[in-house]
Amino acid sequence: MLQLKKKKFKRKVSLTKETRDGILSFCKMNHPNEGILILRGKAKHGDVFIDGLVIPPFSETGADFAGFPNNPLPLDPSYVGIVHSHPVGSAEPSLTDLNNFFGLVSMIVKSPYEDDDIFAWDSDGKEIPFAIV
Ligand SMILES: [Zn+2]
Repeated sequence: MLQLKKKKFKRKVSLTKETRDGILSFCKMNHPNEGILILRGKAKHGDVFIDGLVIPPFSETGADFAGFPNNPLPLDPSYVGIVHSHPVGSAEPSLTDLNNFFGLVSMIVKSPYEDDDIFAWDSDGKEIPFAIV
């Protein structure tokens, strides 16, 4: 379908295999609590390339919440988004997730945190396709 009127860049996300594996083991480690990580990489014209992970310095995690309450993330241009896990339920972003959207992409991993359990979302809660590179 043609979307000529759409001005917004269509996001494309790519992730190195090492980063994907790092996310999955971090989520497994934190289970049954939520885990949260900052995604590091580069963004150009809506294309996001992720090749690193940073553990947020002040995250608060629990069984049903992972986030940065009242604390803005450091303004680092290499911080392109966040990833967090959903130990229970689907990988769809909750309202809280969307309200706390940071960066360009929000990735969510659902249990049991296997290769197919990672999903990427934009700030509207729409799924973004991503590739492992
Ligand atoms: Zn969530």
